[in-house]
Amino acid sequence: MASYNLLLLPGDGIGPEVAGGLTVVLDALEETGLATFETETDLVGGCALDAHGVPLAEATLQRARDADAILLGAVGGPKWAGVAYENRPEAGLLRLRKDLDLFANLRPAICYPALADASALKRELVEGLDIMIVRELTGGVYFGEPKEITTLPDGSKRAVDTQVYTTGEIERIARVAFDLAGKRSGRVASAEKHNVMKSGVLWKEVVTKLHAEHYADIQLEHILADNCAMQLARRPKQFDVLVTDNLFGDVLSDLAAMLTGSLGMLPSASLGAVDDKGLRRAMYEPCHGSAPDIAGQDKANPIAMIGSLTMCLRYSFGLGEAADALDGAITDALAGGARTADIAGEGTNPMGTRAMAEAIASALKLRVG
Ligand code: NAD
Repeated sequence: MASYNLLLLPGDGIGPEVAGGLTVVLDALEETGLATFETETDLVGGCALDAHGVPLAEATLQRARDADAILLGAVGGPKWAGVAYENRPEAGLLRLRKDLDLFANLRPAICYPALADASALKRELVEGLDIMIVRELTGGVYFGEPKEITTLPDGSKRAVDTQVYTTGEIERIARVAFDLAGKRSGRVASAEKHNVMKSGVLWKEVVTKLHAEHYADIQLEHILADNCAMQLARRPKQFDVLVTDNLFGDVLSDLAAMLTGSLGMLPSASLGAVDDKGLRRAMYEPCHGSAPDIAGQDKANPIAMIGSLTMCLRYSFGLGEAADALDGAITDALAGGARTADIAGEGTNPMGTRAMAEAIASALKLRVG
């Protein structure tokens, strides 16, 4: 059995707790003979700032470049609210994404049958929901220059962020979406705002051309990002693969998250380009943040973190069978009544982070025998 080199970056707040849950599941995967791992653990975010004076040390970045895949918990928290902008915990995460050129962020929004009632929407609108949001992650307004706050002659201030996209950046993210759609239901919706933004005009043009030239068998729909938000809340199951830029992707994927019941349920993958050897850099992380309101209380839901591992098995290591088994174990644990506080209905006694991870590990062992 091949062994894979994983870099664990638990980070801040609930990060170390959900990463602890991940370790329980990694052990179970080894025990069942599905996969083996060599793991290293390092610091990112506020904890790295405390230890090294920067949110991502050069040595950690090198380890990230050398790893087969990275699993990250979450970064940030009120403790670091006052630090200089370039040293904020999130800068460590952005640097990892940018430096490793992880341009494709895959965010599935899946509603597990046992949790349909935990959604803010009616059961019939979300039951069976399975959307894949493909968000561009290394371009757009989060990285565009100029990005500054200047003081005007009258003493007031002016802030500028720049939304910028090139043909190549749009094309490579659209390819990821079309390729994924080919393995799913064959439908892509592309969201931008070509009615008011030049970057939206180019986005639509490039996606349309790529579709006509290489993906004519895929059904393509263009949708304005604001309408897309409305449609996600009105009739979410109309979407399959949804491709969009960095900013709209950030917002739309959080909206989709709430359709599934809790931010604590949602994994993500950030992928780079495939190299000559067929390998790609990749980082897997929950969509949620460091949840300072529940940190250190054994209340965090580890499913987003564990689901990120299933994406890692699937997209980095080609271990589809192991990924299916782990996905199935999550479904089984939920069907068996396992609930952390964020997804527990009224009158249900919630379990802690570690107990949920153990329930999933037990379900995995039962499945694999
Ligand atoms: P958050 O995702 O941390 O929390 C939002 C709400 O969801 C909170 O009520 C929290 O308790 C709940 N929640 C989140 N994850 C949960 C889980 N696994 N189980 C149960 N409940 C969960 O967002 P926020 O409060 O806006 O941000 C907190 C900090 O995290 C900030 O410093 C922010 O910058 C940072 N952040 C980091 C990332 C990241 O590391 N990728 C993403 C978003 C926010």
